[in-house]
Amino acid sequence: MVQTLSQIKALLDAHGLRPKHRFGQNFLHDARKMEAIIESANINAGDLVLEVGPGTGALTTRLLAAGAKVAMVEIDTDLAPILQMVCGEHAGQASLLLDDILEGKHAINPKAIALLEQMGLGTTHDSFKLIANLPYHVASPLLVNLVVDHPRMSGAVVMVQKEVAQRLMAKPGGKDYGQLGIIIQMLCHVEGVSTLPPGCFWPPPSIDSMVVSLTRRQQPLVEDAHRMSELLQKLFQQRRKQLGSILGRDRAFPEGISPQQRPEQLTLEQFVELARWQS
Ligand code: SAM
Repeated sequence: MVQTLSQIKALLDAHGLRPKHRFGQNFLHDARKMEAIIESANINAGDLVLEVGPGTGALTTRLLAAGAKVAMVEIDTDLAPILQMVCGEHAGQASLLLDDILEGKHAINPKAIALLEQMGLGTTHDSFKLIANLPYHVASPLLVNLVVDHPRMSGAVVMVQKEVAQRLMAKPGGKDYGQLGIIIQMLCHVEGVSTLPPGCFWPPPSIDSMVVSLTRRQQPLVEDAHRMSELLQKLFQQRRKQLGSILGRDRAFPEGISPQQRPEQLTLEQFVELARWQS
């Protein structure tokens, strides 16, 4: 059953609940935006989906109707009865883990991966998609972790705060261009799907949000993403400095890269060149 705003409110009321700010609970109720997420996720029957933060299950029910098998990971145990009902109505197609999707700041909770494996994620040939209206505070670490450390994630369609979306899509030269967008773009193609003003959510957040789609590149631009991240961190900690001041001027830079350039001016391919030159 598709959930409208009054149904989302009624479900919470029936369990004596209110949206929790600490868990980033801004429930998406705009049906057209929800459909746009489903459409751009390009779901085929039987596709395995990781949904982080299903809330009351408004997006989940649409994913299930599209034929996906959905592994839900929800931190708020108070939502258990609502989500267990969704699982009950879709036995074999939906499973629930009540836990934090992140283990510390730098890893995905292994129980979430185990749940995906129970639902059919097997060898390296199998894959899953991340489709979620993400809580703002977990979006960046979650995306970096999944993209860098979980190559079985073939792609994602996620709602994030607009500022994070701009960093994910940023091109050289702008203020948004930095470590987050560069490492993700080296491994995935990133596209904006649509902008969501605060009125699409209840309660409305104070900022705009955006849906972005990530599709894993068939040929990643970088093999060792961890080493690349270390280099990017070193460079972007001092983004206004010239490359020569950060990396030294005692040997010639690779062709096409000048020691006078600043990190934010380099293309993805030039960062790859620079990493090779450093090793
Ligand atoms: N999917 C619903 C929707 O589309 O309206 C709710 C999205 S709401 C923006 C974010 C959801 O993520 C909430 O249900 C919240 O409890 C959950 N959440 C917050 N932090 C989380 C975490 N670290 N791990 C898993 N779920 C989390």
